Amino acid sequence: MSEHPLQRCGAWAVAVLCDRERPEQVSGSDLDAVAERVVSDVVVAATARPDTAAYDWWKVLFALYPNSRATHAKRERDPARLRPEIGAMFAPDPAEGALLPCTFCGEPCSVLWSKSMLPMFDSVRAVNTLPPGLAGWPVCRSCRVALWALPYGAWVTAGSATVVTSDSQMVERRVVARNVRRAGRILQSGFEGLPAGAGPEAVTLQALRAHSTERAVTATLWTFKNDNQEPWLRITATRSGVARFLALMLSDSDCRQGWWKLRKHLEWRDKSGRVIQDGATAAARTLFDPDGRQVDRLPAELLRLAKDTDRVTESTLFEWRALCRLYLEVMHEMKTDIGELKKLAGLLVDWIDDKQNPRSKFNEYRQVAGSGYELHKLLMRAMSRLYLDGRKPLDITGITNRGLFEPGSPGWLLRAQLFFEVMAELAKRDISIAGKADDTDVDEQAEMRFDLSADPLSTDEEEYA
Ligand SMILES: [Zn+2]
Repeated sequence: MSEHPLQRCGAWAVAVLCDRERPEQVSGSDLDAVAERVVSDVVVAATARPDTAAYDWWKVLFALYPNSRATHAKRERDPARLRPEIGAMFAPDPAEGALLPCTFCGEPCSVLWSKSMLPMFDSVRAVNTLPPGLAGWPVCRSCRVALWALPYGAWVTAGSATVVTSDSQMVERRVVARNVRRAGRILQSGFEGLPAGAGPEAVTLQALRAHSTERAVTATLWTFKNDNQEPWLRITATRSGVARFLALMLSDSDCRQGWWKLRKHLEWRDKSGRVIQDGATAAARTLFDPDGRQVDRLPAELLRLAKDTDRVTESTLFEWRALCRLYLEVMHEMKTDIGELKKLAGLLVDWIDDKQNPRSKFNEYRQVAGSGYELHKLLMRAMSRLYLDGRKPLDITGITNRGLFEPGSPGWLLRAQLFFEVMAELAKRDISIAGKADDTDVDEQAEMRFDLSADPLSTDEEEYA
């Protein structure tokens, strides 16, 4: 197994397809069997009529190997003649021929592959150019089979593939095993046969959670798309604290329920009730950072949803406060700051709690809650108002010194948590700021739809497994 994410995913897929624990345990006859399976599936897909379910696998192959013998517009359409052509791609190396190190694993081999046979190599970009003097890429037999077993181990759509790498091999295997099952369904009944639901982020989080008991493991998602014009690659990854965050989140009932509500709020359905965006996947995605940048999508998403106070119940706000707080504690070690935020929330609520129109004051705060500069102005105003009313001024230098009003992190994270603390303080003092009488459409549906004691990282797809 190499470090190349596509070869790695393919090697795991080979192991799973022949029921071996690890790629190193795959024998020569195992490899024959997997090659046989790959060839059969390729031939069926490449000769299927476009309006059939079997044709969906061809779309998968086309996205990965757009100019190969299996996908090219001028491909052989007679299965009996196509089969030996495809089968030859995975034949053992001939005895003669100069030995070269395999492009992927370094094993000596004599077969050279053109880029049209390699996944994602056949692009207009010059990134995959051959070294001078070579007629093709040397690829050993194991890697040739692995590179075409890739679509079984990847999360595939009709135009893209996502593979997962992790510092835990168990995480990699688990994700691949699940994708292999999913590929089996696509082969059998096309994409229509798949239950709507879980995307690669949700599946990966489950695997992380299952295999991160002893140490912090991370996972990286590589999403490839090749439309024969401009291929692209998107990389997202979890940070090392995520596994611990998941474990703590699952052991706290408020946080667990908060995660369920987040899923529900992020789920989108069309008018006919069909899921357009799966909630489990959208929630899982908040724990993945793009391209090595720390983005902290979870608190951003919680704040965005919570600010829509007409759609969120008090209990949800309470749970999201716990969830946001846990995230800041685990991912940013911000434990001590939370206490100071509570004091500040108390001050803001003193100001909001004017007997005439608390809602209008709250709305003023809500509008500036995310902006350091505007929040600072409002706080100054609130403090002088309270002072004029004869209240004792509150010392907030502790929290402001931590960058509460600064743009960027950690300022905005503190401001997000402050919002939840303000909401909690309002609830504690029984100050109603709700617009309509508890318009809890989303939450009410949510409570009915699932058992809150169930695993919030579960995915709908499992029900069909
Ligand atoms: Zn190799």
